[in-house]
Amino acid sequence: MRSNKTAAYNMEEDIPYELVRLGYACNARCLFCNVECLPEERKSDDRILRDVMKAVLISGSRPGGRISISGGEPGLYRGLPSLIRLFRSKKVSKIEVQTNALCFADRSLAALVASAGATSAFVSLHSHSPGTHDFLTGVKGSYARSLKGIDNLLSCGLEVVLNPVICSRNYRAAAKYMAFVSKRFPEIKYISLSVVQPRGRALKNGRIVPDYALISPYISDALSRADAEGLVIHNPICGLPLCVGGWHERADRSVEYSLSKLDRRRDVGKIYPDFCSVCSVKTVCGGVWPEYMDIHGVSGLKPV
Ligand code: SF4
Ligand code: SF4
Repeated sequence: MRSNKTAAYNMEEDIPYELVRLGYACNARCLFCNVECLPEERKSDDRILRDVMKAVLISGSRPGGRISISGGEPGLYRGLPSLIRLFRSKKVSKIEVQTNALCFADRSLAALVASAGATSAFVSLHSHSPGTHDFLTGVKGSYARSLKGIDNLLSCGLEVVLNPVICSRNYRAAAKYMAFVSKRFPEIKYISLSVVQPRGRALKNGRIVPDYALISPYISDALSRADAEGLVIHNPICGLPLCVGGWHERADRSVEYSLSKLDRRRDVGKIYPDFCSVCSVKTVCGGVWPEYMDIHGVSGLKPV
C-alpha cells in the first residue's frame, strides 16, 4: 500500500497550470462536456493562436513554468509533439496533457509525446465500470481504449493523474472507483475529483447534474477509501463546495483553499448563498455554481 504522508504539502503545486487550449475537436461526446458553453469568439482560431503565443511568451519569461495543454482532445492534433518541444525549448519544467486517453491507445503517439518532453497526463476516466464510462463518454468501447491509453502513457514514463467527473450516474460507486484505481494502476497516486459543472452539454442533460445532498455521503466514503488505499485526492475548481462530502475536514486539498491562502483567487463565476456569511470556511471556499442552484437550489449546502 502506498503512503500519502511522505511529502510535505506544497500549495504552489496545487495552483492550476497555465492553460493552452489547442482547439475544440474531440473524439468523445461526454454527456457533461462544458467546452461547448464557451462563447463563439473564444472558439476562433485567432483566439486559440493568441492563447498559445501568450503561453509561449509567459513560459519564456518565466523559466520553470508549468503548462497544461487542453482541448477538445489534444491527442487529435498532429502538432502536439512539436508544441511540447517548443515549450521544452523555453525551459518549461512541467508539461501536462489533458486527455481522454483514447488517442493514446496507439502507443506510438504516447511515445512521441513522452519523447517530446511531456511530463504528465491528466486523464478523464469516469468509472471503473465499462458500461458506465462508455455511456458517459458517448463512445462504445471507450473504456477499454482509455485503459490501454493510460497503460501506454505510464509505460512511456509520464505521470498520470486521473480526473473522474462525478455525476448522477457514477456517484454511488465512487469508493469502488478508488479501490479499482489502486488495484489496476498501482503507479497512479493522484486523483482530481471533479463534479459536473452545470454548463454546456451538462445543462442540456440536466439530470446528469447530481444533487449535492445525495452525493455527499458517497463522496465522504470515497475519500476515506482513497486514504486507505494511499491515494491523494484533490478537490479542483470544478469540484465541490467545502460543506459537501466532508471536504471541510481536508480543506487544504482543495485548489480554492490554496488559491485563497496564496492570495491568487480568481473569479470563475461561482456565488455564495446568503447563509455562507456565517460559514467558518467561507474565506477558503469558492462557493457554488449559480446553475447548480437553478437546478437543485441549496440542496446539500450548509454552513460549517
Ligand atoms: S469532456 Fe473532454 S473528452 Fe469529453 S467531450 Fe468534452 S472535451 Fe471531449
Ligand atoms: S456554506 Fe457556503 S461558504 Fe460554507 S462551505 Fe458551503 S458553499 Fe462554502
